[in-house]
Amino acid sequence: MRIILLGAPGAGKGTQAEKLVAKLGVPQISTGEILRKAQQEQTELGKQAGQYMKEGALVPDEIVVGIVQERLKQRDCQRGYILDGFPRSASQAEALDVTLQEMQDQLTAVISLKVPEDELVRRLLSRRREDDNKDVIQERLAIYTQQTKPLIDYYRSHRLLDEVDGQGSVDEIFDRIMSTLQRRQTASQAQVG
Ligand code: AMP
Repeated sequence: MRIILLGAPGAGKGTQAEKLVAKLGVPQISTGEILRKAQQEQTELGKQAGQYMKEGALVPDEIVVGIVQERLKQRDCQRGYILDGFPRSASQAEALDVTLQEMQDQLTAVISLKVPEDELVRRLLSRRREDDNKDVIQERLAIYTQQTKPLIDYYRSHRLLDEVDGQGSVDEIFDRIMSTLQRRQTASQAQVG
């Protein structure tokens, strides 16, 4: 299964990705986590990305797209993966399409987690990450609206989108995601049959 988790900062992508990893046995690819690790290790990549992350801006495609392309080629991704935090813009979605075509792979589903903005802010303020202070949160939400939200329509037009209510308990949300994935699988089997 090749799944994209789409959603605003604080929508629960990371939490749900971890549960999907445990259930489906495929790796989670979180560009945010990869970049934070690089920052902690003070690698060249980390230094380049650091300033953008601190301001809540998107790290340039030249950096992020390369990271994902390399990661998707690794052996543990052969059976699938959960993309968490990538793609985040139209240009990243297009780059991913090209990469998937080259690898002769197809996405299984794009799950969009829907959470109202006041709830997002409440969750982000309780996280205490360096880029989760009030000003940076506003910037990240604005960037989400401008750059990432349009991907909902992009994937809907590719018939890959499933919208899931991202409010409630972690387990409730996970159950909704699993039912959505099961419906999709049943539908695709019916098509083949
Ligand atoms: P996240 O953990 O997904 O909220 O990402 C934290 C920060 O890492 C973001 O605010 C961006 O600065 C950067 N980042 C993560 N993923 C991407 C991406 N796909 N494109 C650009 N920047 C990203």
